[in-house]
Parts: sequence; C-alpha cells; structure tokens
Amino acid sequence: MTATDPAAPAATAVTPRDPRYEDLLDAYNHRFAARPREIRVAASAADVADALRDAVGAGARIAARSGGHCFEGFASAPGIEILLDLSALDGVAHDPGRRAFAVGAGARLGPVYRALHARWGVTLPAGTCFDVGMGGHVAAGGYGHLSRRDGLTVDHLYAVEAVVVDGAGEPRVVTATREPDDPHLDLWWAHTGGGGGNFGVVTRYWFRSPGEDSADPARLLPRAPGRVLRRTAVWPWEPMDEKALTRLLRNFAGWHEDNSAPGSPAAPLWSNFIVSHRSAGAVMLTSVIDEAAPGAANLLDEQYARLTGGVGVDPVVNDRAVLPWMSSWMPSYTWPPEPLGRYKNKAAYLRRGFTDRQLETVYRYLDGDGGNPFACLVLSGYGCRIAEAAPEATAVAHRAPVMKAMFCGGQWTSPDEDAERIAWIRAFYRDVFAHTGGVPVPDGVSDGSYIGYPDVDLADPEWNTSGVPWHELYYGGNYPRLQRVKERYDPLGVFRHGLSVRPPA
Ligand SMILES: Cc1cc2nc3c(=O)[nH]c(=O)nc-3n(C[C@H](O)[C@H](O)[C@H](O)COP(=O)(O)OP(=O)(O)OC[C@H]3O[C@@H](n4cnc5c(N)ncnc54)[C@H](O)[C@@H]3O)c2cc1C
Repeated sequence: MTATDPAAPAATAVTPRDPRYEDLLDAYNHRFAARPREIRVAASAADVADALRDAVGAGARIAARSGGHCFEGFASAPGIEILLDLSALDGVAHDPGRRAFAVGAGARLGPVYRALHARWGVTLPAGTCFDVGMGGHVAAGGYGHLSRRDGLTVDHLYAVEAVVVDGAGEPRVVTATREPDDPHLDLWWAHTGGGGGNFGVVTRYWFRSPGEDSADPARLLPRAPGRVLRRTAVWPWEPMDEKALTRLLRNFAGWHEDNSAPGSPAAPLWSNFIVSHRSAGAVMLTSVIDEAAPGAANLLDEQYARLTGGVGVDPVVNDRAVLPWMSSWMPSYTWPPEPLGRYKNKAAYLRRGFTDRQLETVYRYLDGDGGNPFACLVLSGYGCRIAEAAPEATAVAHRAPVMKAMFCGGQWTSPDEDAERIAWIRAFYRDVFAHTGGVPVPDGVSDGSYIGYPDVDLADPEWNTSGVPWHELYYGGNYPRLQRVKERYDPLGVFRHGLSVRPPA
C-alpha cells in the first residue's frame, strides 16, 4: 500500500472516551500531559492531509508524533487539540524506482534496523534507542554508534515525503530529493537536521548513501557489522575522589581529541561513558567496534590503556566480549523502560574535553547532594566521518565536535519531584557553562547543542544569559536558510513548538 493509495483505510479518530486514548497518548517523558480532543491515527499521506485540513479549518492546534521520544513537550504540550499519530506508517521497503530504501515516518528504529539487516544486510548510522521514531529522529539529524564510521543518518537521506500547508490552508504532498535540480531541494535540506515539527508532516523518508544508485539494494547503504567487540568497564564510585574521576574524564576526552579526525583508523570505534551520580554507585564505559575492522582488538585495547592511565581506581568490571551485532549488541543499548518516567535532559557538543574548572564543577555535582541514581553526564564519541561534511551541506552545522555531552536530571515518577530534579540539572548545566552565560556557546571547547536533544531553557533569558540566541546554538549559520524554508512551506505557521524555526523577521 502506498502512502496515497485510494484503497487505504480511512484514518482512525480516537477521542478521550475511547479505551485506546490513554495508550495512544503515552510517550517517553511523562512531565508533559496533552489532552487533545482527538488523536488521529493516520495510515497514509492522504490521511495526514485530511487531518491538517480539518485542523486548519477549525483553527485547532495540531502536532505530529512518530515515536513519542521528544525530550520536551513539543507533541505533548497542553494546548494541542489534535494529535496526529503516525505509528501506522511504519513500512520499510526497497524502492527500485528511486534506488533507495523507503521508510515510513512512524517506524521505530528497532524494526528499521532489523528489516534492513535481515533482508539486505545493510544498516543506517542512527540512534541507539530502539523505540525512537524515525519521524523526529531523522529530521533532527540522527546519530548513533556507527556515526564515527558512517556519518549522521541524514548524510544518507535521499528524499523526504512531507505534507505541507499552503497560504490558503490547503495541504499538499511534496516529495523533496537531494538532486541539485529538484525544485524542493530546500525542503529536503531542511529535513537534514532542521528538527521535527517545523515545516510539515513527514510521511516517508528514502535512504541511499551519497554516490550510490545501484540496482542492488545491498549496495545502497553501509554494510551492517557481523559481530562486534565490546568492552564494558565499570568503576566503583566509592573509592573515587576528584582526582581519579577527573583523570578518567580527561583521558576519555584526550582519546577523542586525538582519534576523531576524518580518516582516522579509529573511526569504527565508538564509546559511551556514563558518569552517573555517586548515588548510582558506579560509572560505566562501553566501547564497541566491528570485529572485522582492521586492528579492531588493538584499537579497543589501546583505548582502554589510555583511559585507565593514572586513574588509580581499578574497575570492578572489565569485560571484553564478542557479540552478534543485531541480536545481542543492538538491543542491549536501550534506555531502561520506566512506564511513568519523567525527565529533564540537556546537551552540548564538545570540540575538546572540559576545562579544569568545568571538571571541578562536574565532580561537585555528581558527588554532591540532589542527584538521583539515574542522574548523569553521558559523553559519547562523535567526529571522524561526521566531520567530512561541510557545516552547510546539511542542516546539522556541528561537524567539528569530537564528543556529544548529555546532562541527565535522572528519572523519577512523581510530579512532586519535578521542581527539585529540574532545579538540580539546571544548576549543574548553568555552572558547567558559567563562563559563557550558562550555555554551550561555541568557544573552542563547547559548540552549541543538538536539536534532537531539545531544551527550551536555551531560549529562556533566565537560563541563557550569553547573548547568543537559541537558534545559533542549535543551527549555527544554517538558521537563516531554515527560516526561508519555513516561510515558503509553512506560511501560516501551522507547525510550531517551543523551539520551532520562526519565519524571517
Ligand atoms: C531514550 C532516548 C534515546 C535517544 N537516543 C538517541 C540517539 O541515540 N541518537 C539521536 O540522534 N537521538 C536520540 N534521541 C533523540 C531522538 O532522536 C529525538 O528525541 C527524536 O526527535 C525522537 O523522535 P520521535 O519521532 O520518537 O519523537 P516525537 O516525540 O514523536 O517527535 C519529536 C518531534 O518531532 C516532531 N515529529 C515527529 N514525527 C514527525 C513527522 N513525521 N513529521 C514532522 N515532525 C514530526 C514532533 O512533532 C516533535 O516536535 C533519543 C531520545 C530518547 C528519549
């Protein structure tokens, strides 16, 4: 069934009295509680167009949701009257006409990986959480543990099908490709990192790597690893003092500063360092590399030697395992499921390791009161292949960082804890970036943030006193072009949220 098939079943409208309502409403971050008057479950681009027409005609606020994994309440905010659920648009198919893989916007990463792997042996350098939806993930840029080797997800985005709304309020389905002569090239570009909920509703993405147009689907995207070598190292918090923890963090950053240039032989090696709050009892490193990569075992061991040098606290776990990539490694990296989890996360790109003063702050917060066992700083490897693209080639301007940092306020379930948890993570982040107005201004160390990890505080003068506007932190010099796309494809401002692209002034 194609997205515009007239035989497609009509969209399902689910109202609050329907027993499906609460389930369909459920999303990752339970801090946000939209009560839309209707959830429209779309099964085609025509359904999406109908829902948009109804919403615009009634003057009702509408938001699209694919996987529901937004950090903020962009598709869950009070005031949203119609929620457009795209989860039924979850197909994964080879499209011989476009010589690309067509993936429905409502598909979750796990099933996409499995289908690409089982049927064609290929994969995408996309995110690590299997429940994240393609709709929001790809539009944000998409990044994961193969990105140092293969680039961002959007570096492989060939085309996007989106339903946009014109100045008369009439929806239309547009397919935009990266072909230089495509009249909708700018709309494709806006979906290479401009962020979800900005320009229209994506119903389908097509993927093939740059320079590939083979009739053989197995050549269109990067090959999936067969087995991976995985290092897991766990250090106990108990004997850890400031000197030991900051040495670990310096070592981790130093390795990434030295091994993240384009063409680095360490590109296939990806690491994630979860530096939990002391109440969790331990900090954990995971490093993974395709077993077939040249010198894989040596690279893993050399990295470990570099990381542990001078730390003085031995890990309680130091495990090197060989795992089948798809069945064992991939599903192992999903965030712990908590049916009522509430979160506040913040992020930053890093061009190099934190300064001594920043490391002192990191230690003070992670060792101090107020955190919970899920509160943490997560540092993930970036760079290598990502750095090969120019900042303006896609909407993701951040091509020079060597790490991504995520600041997590933890996980809690009671609304009564919101104020305390949010205050803690806000203070932690503000103090780490105190010298640049509380936010990661590009300054040689930090380099803005990732729109896939949105944080409305960056647009709040109480928390961003840097004088650098939120959109510069998220988009660098790409924002004016995004604004022009906004003006052209969403002239009525149908698609909006706390950090949405605004039309040019
Ligand atoms: C546990 C967890 C792990 C994560 N891991 C990674 C990771 O490894 N790598 C990474 O890069 N990111 C990661 N992310 C971030 C993730 O990519 C973003 O949160 C992404 O926006 C989620 O997409 P979604 O469709 O699931 O979310 P949704 O909440 O459905 O949507 C997010 C935003 O996109 C809009 N949107 C959704 N669908 C569409 C559509 N079809 N058309 C237009 N707009 C749409 C929504 O309106 C909203 O503004 C993670 C997030 C979580 C919560």
